[in-house]
Amino acid sequence: MVRLIGFVPVRVVCVAGARPNFMKVKPVVDALEARGVDVELVHTGQHFDATMSDVFFEELGLRQPDHHLEVGAGSQAETTARVMVEFEKVIQNTSPDAVVVVGDVNSTVGCALVAAKSGARLAHVEAGLRSRDWAMPEEINRVVTDRVSDLLFASSADAATNLISEGYRPDQIHLVGNVMIDTLLSNLDRAKARPWLHDQGLTPHQYAVVTLHRPSNVDDAETLARLAGLLEWVGEKLPVIFPCHPRTRARLKGRALASVALVEPLGYLDFISSLASARLVLTDSGGVQEETTVLGVPCLTLRESTERPITVREGTNRVVGTDVEVIKAVVEEVLASPPPARRPDLWDGKAADRIAEVLTAGISIGRPTDL
Ligand code: UDP
Repeated sequence: MVRLIGFVPVRVVCVAGARPNFMKVKPVVDALEARGVDVELVHTGQHFDATMSDVFFEELGLRQPDHHLEVGAGSQAETTARVMVEFEKVIQNTSPDAVVVVGDVNSTVGCALVAAKSGARLAHVEAGLRSRDWAMPEEINRVVTDRVSDLLFASSADAATNLISEGYRPDQIHLVGNVMIDTLLSNLDRAKARPWLHDQGLTPHQYAVVTLHRPSNVDDAETLARLAGLLEWVGEKLPVIFPCHPRTRARLKGRALASVALVEPLGYLDFISSLASARLVLTDSGGVQEETTVLGVPCLTLRESTERPITVREGTNRVVGTDVEVIKAVVEEVLASPPPARRPDLWDGKAADRIAEVLTAGISIGRPTDL
């Protein structure tokens, strides 16, 4: 006779490790907890300081992690390896039913490799994005993470199409929308109410925002010097604010940029506030391409490719490369004639709900503790 003694809830480990992860994991944690799932939040500590980590917990209301791996900074291999060693202990102690990893940082791939060998179901949020640029560490992380995942949550139709063409089974792929946009939409009013713009003495729609941190743009001194010259040129046309990633700050070695306000990385709300009223954004960030699309703000991506082509086809993004003369011509063009605002399908603030629905349907809710 089957005897049901009690039920334990489904346990899901959610992983965040670096700045672009925190705003992606927050709505997923909330949506799972709202369905009664026992969520264990892991912070790998890949980004760990006040401006790159703490501020996102405070401003987004992301609860403190249940496990802090404190891996710290290091080379590509050092970070990934430390994440794997520490995350394996968490998995052994928690025996989750599923593990959710987001994005494309080293913590994503490190935890994915460990989870895949543990027997837990592995879900990748933001699956299928492809720049096809193998010089990007993130591209390797994306491809490897997808390959070992059971569930692939795609933010756009092109990402789902990439996965199909790579041979993934259709039942693994779920087109759910964009969790980063869930967080953007739920915080937009708070962000717009911030006094940041006023405090900076900026007039709405009359300034530019810059973010640059990809190794291809900032690690080579000659490339960085060329781009710095470009920013100084933009700064002669309109005020430029450049919240500077620690990697870029280190490469600039104290070099000031004439007519460009180099500031510390901004907290999430001030950063979104800065984007929302910008006339123009120049970036090499992945997330910023998506945020500017939803905010309807012109974005120039200083890279040769993007893993987010939907922001070009259905948004305000243009991939302009790094040839300074070409970029200058596009800046003139976009300032004179900004692109129309459009928003991709399913970027509606409900992506995390769709993810939680799929995840909880895939694992029986409530496991009998004794049969
Ligand atoms: N961001 C922020 N403050 C900043 C720069 C960025 O809050 O000064 C946020 C913003 O929401 C952005 C996200 O951090 O989308 C991730 O940005 P990052 O460029 O670090 O990562 P990527 O998206 O390129 O992986």
